[in-house]
Amino acid sequence: MNGLRYASLDRNSLRGCRMQEYQLYIDGEFVPAKSGKTVDSINPATEEPWARVARAGREDTQRAIKAARTAFDSGPWARTSQQDRAKILNDIADRLQARAQEIAVVETQDSGGTIRKTGGDLMLANAQLRYFAEMAEQVPLLTEIQVPQFPAQSTNFVQREPFGVCGQIIPWNFPLMMAVWKIGPALATGNTVVIKPATDTPCSLLELAKIIDESDLPTGVVNVVHGSGAECGEELCTSPMVDKIAFTGSTAVGSRIMQLAAGTVKKVTLELGGKSANIILDDADLDMAIDGSLFGCFFHQGQACESGTRLLVSDAKHDEVVARLVERTRQINCGDPLDMMSAQGPLISAKQRETVEGYIKKGVEDGATIAVGGGRPAGLPKGYYVEPTILTGVRNQMTVAQEEIFGPVLVVIRYKDIDDAIKIANDSIYGLGGAVWSRDDDKAMEVAKRVRTGTMWINEYHMLSVAAPFGGYKQSGIGREFGMEGLLEYMQIKHIHLDQVRNRAGKFWYGALFGA
Ligand code: NDP
Repeated sequence: MNGLRYASLDRNSLRGCRMQEYQLYIDGEFVPAKSGKTVDSINPATEEPWARVARAGREDTQRAIKAARTAFDSGPWARTSQQDRAKILNDIADRLQARAQEIAVVETQDSGGTIRKTGGDLMLANAQLRYFAEMAEQVPLLTEIQVPQFPAQSTNFVQREPFGVCGQIIPWNFPLMMAVWKIGPALATGNTVVIKPATDTPCSLLELAKIIDESDLPTGVVNVVHGSGAECGEELCTSPMVDKIAFTGSTAVGSRIMQLAAGTVKKVTLELGGKSANIILDDADLDMAIDGSLFGCFFHQGQACESGTRLLVSDAKHDEVVARLVERTRQINCGDPLDMMSAQGPLISAKQRETVEGYIKKGVEDGATIAVGGGRPAGLPKGYYVEPTILTGVRNQMTVAQEEIFGPVLVVIRYKDIDDAIKIANDSIYGLGGAVWSRDDDKAMEVAKRVRTGTMWINEYHMLSVAAPFGGYKQSGIGREFGMEGLLEYMQIKHIHLDQVRNRAGKFWYGALFGA
């Protein structure tokens, strides 16, 4: 089976074929950057350029913002009916579905994510778009509320309206899916969008832009600018024409974005880093917990924000668990991400590999032991690969237990009892994901409730649901994506007071100004 490649590879998108070309998408047109600049996208598996992409600067970003502003203020989208918005989102989902395999290949070449993963992402992104379409019809626009009838007698409403122009900044780990997580709820609620992909992974989003361009979405509602964070990202965060920023990425950049957005008091939602605790209780089904914990950490080479990167195991179970983790890790196949047999591909970039290798070295210097992995896989001379690595003898104060590594590195930390496990789990600046493995649902629920984090799985990992709110505690973020909570992040709230005292005499409180 080794060497079996993805079923319907587009000839032109295969590595070694001619370079793909991508342009910016502004005001309903695919355009070059004003400066004429382009940048090559590097395939992380081959270390070679495979696509050439227009590189937006500040002026291109300003043009995109203006287009989104005009589309919001003067275009039909903000006033389009909920049913018609749903119809357009479903049409985009249909078109995405029709091109899913081809776009998965694009994303694998752009990001190094295995085709198993990008193929799955396309499927999920499609389902998520359809959920946002469904929710577009369910978001409450005008709700009557009850208020005390003194001093005024009144009928009261909460009106929900789109924010306006949303600046959206996304990372490189799940490029297409992150775009859908951002564009979907923004459109479902009537906003317009300027979205900036990560420098390393613009291509699948620009494929989505082609699909959007073919749909009935009005011109200027979605704009895509591929430029640097420092230039395009900061322009989005500071422009007075942008009403909201939605960001996914590192905590350091999230903090910078908050500061930048403060100047024009923008609404900000942030989905940031994590160092999530995965707790195996002594009564866990170990067959399931071992594989689940490795899936929780090593999926997509550990480049997922809510990965379970700290594995907490009791003193009693430690040696058995570590032995079984090591045995199963040795069976994980690293290799060509276009090969359906590869479970682990390369990291996104040489820089990210250097970061990850630096953390492994630091862990060892601080006293940890490499139980498995720690190097580059044999037989892969090209590509930014790092072996799935397990560090044991880790204490929670160590750098490798406190900082987000964003690579295939699992640290194992011992605990004495459940209280100790929860104390360790909560001893982190982050709080994004986490899990507990146990045969006793009540005990697991107790643990889940006590960990200060945005999502806890019981006997599972990574199973986010588009209908359940996702986001972080502490420095893992602000606001939620998914579920009704996620949609409401894209809506302003207006209170409308309809007074029921219909004559001057009844408005006795004017006495505060005019006397009795
Ligand atoms: P960043 O947080 O730097 O990048 C995320 C996005 O923010 C990218 O589109 C980036 O653009 C943009 N950006 C960067 N600087 C600014 C800025 N000043 N203003 C506005 N936007 C900006 O992540 P990195 O790619 O540098 O990865 C570094 C670390 O971040 C990883 O090792 C990991 O720990 C964490 N990370 C977390 C993610 C998550 O899902 N929570 C996702 C990715 C990374 P550009 O690409 O042009 O720099």
